[in-house]
Amino acid sequence: MGRLEGKVALITGGARGMGKAHARHFVAEGARVVIGDVLDAKGEAVAAKLDGCRYVHHDVTSEDDWTAAVGATIAAFGRVDVLVNNAGILRHAPIAEMEPAAFREVLEVNLVGCWLGIRAVAGPMTTAGGGSIVNISSVEGIAGASGLAAYSASKFGVRGLTRSAAQELGPAGIRVNSVHPGGVLTSMSLGAADTLTRVDPLAFLKALPLPRFAEPVEISRLVAFLASDEASYTTGAEFLADGGLLSGPGY
Ligand code: NAD
Repeated sequence: MGRLEGKVALITGGARGMGKAHARHFVAEGARVVIGDVLDAKGEAVAAKLDGCRYVHHDVTSEDDWTAAVGATIAAFGRVDVLVNNAGILRHAPIAEMEPAAFREVLEVNLVGCWLGIRAVAGPMTTAGGGSIVNISSVEGIAGASGLAAYSASKFGVRGLTRSAAQELGPAGIRVNSVHPGGVLTSMSLGAADTLTRVDPLAFLKALPLPRFAEPVEISRLVAFLASDEASYTTGAEFLADGGLLSGPGY
């Protein structure tokens, strides 16, 4: 405990799932946290249960919302040391059946939203002498998947964005890394299980070296490490937390 003592973090998509787990874990590790989301009632409820946590309405595709969210973080807690670009959406459809608008929506939230976030915190973090940005990608940012072209393209994009931002912002003391979860128990993965009809969940689990889904907090611990000063020499890097999914010969 205390790994994030004194740090101020902005976490996107914090109303449920992994973002909510990150907020809880960050507070437990001593951080003060602002969570943003488009699910206002859920987001308010998460913040109300955590000391040193505020909620702001924050659509990551909106430049104005980014300005407001970073402003609200600095107004509440005086600084922004950590950004966790966690908000994301998953749309499942074969390429030939997906509407272009749906493809663009996935890129807009998962990739452009992430870029807008880096853009929004780069100035304040530079002025403060540094910071840590953790971008949540996926195993689909490392390997493609049938029916997930939009999602996978967006998550591959997050890797390129992460590496480029690390190159650009390192001299200002800002570290930028990406996290690549496998199957994590959240609304997103449970919703996907309904639509990914070609994936047998039991066969998927049996094939994993660690044959189970992750609890969200198991990803939070990795995110907190990257956010903390313990990761002080780590930037531009990719961290799998996938139960060994991508370690086998199939990949
Ligand atoms: P989730 O659907 O439970 O949570 C995502 C959150 O993002 C929700 O609260 C949602 O309202 C919010 N969100 C969506 N669009 C938004 C927008 N435009 N602006 C702000 N917030 C928005 O999903 P999760 O599983 O907790 O996913 C968190 C992140 O982890 C995502 O980036 C996802 O792609 C990634 N991921 C999830 C899994 C998994 O198995 N669940 C695996 C790998 C990566």
